[in-house]
Amino acid sequence: MTTVLTAYIDEQNCIGCGKCIRVCPTDAIVGARHLLHTVIPQYCTSCENCINACPTNCIILQTPSIAMSKYAENQLKMKKQIRLTAKPLLEVKPATTSAVTGDIRKQQVADAIARAKARRNQAQ
Ligand code: SF4
Ligand code: SF4
Repeated sequence: MTTVLTAYIDEQNCIGCGKCIRVCPTDAIVGARHLLHTVIPQYCTSCENCINACPTNCIILQTPSIAMSKYAENQLKMKKQIRLTAKPLLEVKPATTSAVTGDIRKQQVADAIARAKARRNQAQ
């Protein structure tokens, strides 16, 4: 087994810009926008892409880890490509602004109010 250095993020200086995540070929970095990011050492291949992309220079190679097999590395790279090219599970359709649809909506609301009034009047 080979021991390699892996990326380490100095969380004090991470501004959560996400640039490191975008360039990591194996999805070894986790974090959310505007929040600090961290590295999963087992997934890091020491490629240094993140180090070059980080605007605050808060990533260094230091944490020793066990090198993963070429097969495992390729699997991670493939998974990332699949994630990047996958269609979203939910297609969000843009809100329609057509006048016709707006009129139908208004009519549906008016009908619903009329039905509620009729029920109220029947109950009295
Ligand atoms: S060194 Fe490469 S593999 Fe490791 S976290 Fe940075 S971009 Fe990802
Ligand atoms: S590129 Fe640097 S500052 Fe930006 S999220 Fe990654 S570690 Fe943090």
